[in-house]
Amino acid sequence: MFNLSSLIRPNIAALKPYVSARSQYVGDSILMDANENPFGDGRVNRYPDPYQSDLRKALAERNYVYENQVLLGNGSDELIDMLMRVFCVPGKDSILICPPTFGMYEVVASVNDVSTESIPLTKTYQLDVALILKSSAKILFLPCPNSPTGNVFNPQDIEIILSEFKGLVVLDEAYVDFSESESWLNSLNKFENLVVLQTFSKYWALAGCRIGMVFASSLIIEVMSKIKMPYNLNNLSSKKALEAIENESLVRANADIIISERKILQEALSRFSFVKKVFSTQTNFLWLEVRGASKLQLFFRESGIIIRGYDAYPDFLRISVGSSVENKMLLALLKNYQS
Ligand SMILES: *Cc1c(COP(=O)(O)O)cnc(C)c1O
Repeated sequence: MFNLSSLIRPNIAALKPYVSARSQYVGDSILMDANENPFGDGRVNRYPDPYQSDLRKALAERNYVYENQVLLGNGSDELIDMLMRVFCVPGKDSILICPPTFGMYEVVASVNDVSTESIPLTKTYQLDVALILKSSAKILFLPCPNSPTGNVFNPQDIEIILSEFKGLVVLDEAYVDFSESESWLNSLNKFENLVVLQTFSKYWALAGCRIGMVFASSLIIEVMSKIKMPYNLNNLSSKKALEAIENESLVRANADIIISERKILQEALSRFSFVKKVFSTQTNFLWLEVRGASKLQLFFRESGIIIRGYDAYPDFLRISVGSSVENKMLLALLKNYQS
C-alpha cells in the first residue's frame, strides 16, 4: 500500500515554512512590507507572487486539474531537486532510474547524497517491470517519452508500476506534446503516488525562461510547497509563459512543423550507410546507432553543428530536430562525409 506520510523525510514533515512578506498582501495595497525599491515599472521592482497564482491557474485550466495540484519551479531541474529533498534522507534513501535515461536525476541525487539504483531498459528500450517492483527506492524517475531513446514505454507497464510500486513514480513528460500518447495527467486522480513533470523548455520554446511544472495530488504539492523558495519564479519568465499559453495555437503549429521535419530528417538519415539505425521517436530529437559515432560527432563539430554523444553509449548519437534550414544544412554536410 502506498503511504505518503511514511515517505516524507521527518525533518520536512516537521518543517514550519518561511512566511514571506509578500505572501500576506492582498489586492492593490501600497507595498511597504518587503523593502523593495518603489522606482520601477511595478513589475520587476517588485518581488514575484510566491503562490505563482496566475500561471498556476492558467495551467490548471489548460490541463483540467485543480490549482492545488500544480507547482512551478526554476526549470524541471529545481523540481527534481525538490522531490529528492522532500522524500530522500541523505546517506540513507535511494532513487531508481532506468538507463538510458535523463542524466540530471543521478546528478541531483549525488548532490543530495542520495544513492541511485539502476535497472536498465530491456533491449527494446522497455521497462523491466518485475525488477522495478522489487526495488525499495523512494522515487522512480521515468522520462515519458524517454530521453535519450525517444520512445514511449508500454502504458500497461506504467499502470502496473503505478499500482504496485511503493514509492513515488515521477513521469517526466518533457516531450509529451511531441508524442501521440496521452499525458499521464489524466490519471492523476487514480494514482496517489503519481507525479507528472512538464517543462516550458521544449514544446513551449522557453528554455531560457527556466520554468518547470509539477502536477501531483494536492497532498504532494502541499509538502513540496513547504520547501519551495518563495520567489523561485521570476516575473519576466512568468509573463512569457502566460503569453505562450494564451497563444498556444502558434506553439502547437510550430510543434507540428518540428514533427514533420523530424520525419524528413529521420528518413534522410536512415539512407546513409554508416547510420545503422534511426530509432522511431515521439520527441523532438532522434536517437541513432552509428558506425563511428564519435568520428561523426567530431566532423559535425568542426563543421559548426553540435550534436550529442554519450560516453556510456559510444555507438549512439542524439540529434535535436532543428529548423528546416538547419536540418537541410546538416543533411547537406553529410553528403560530403567519408565514414
Ligand atoms: C529537457 C528535459 C527536461 C527539461 O528540464 P528544464 O530544467 O525544465 O529545462 C526535463 N526532463 C527531461 C527528460 C528533459 O529531456
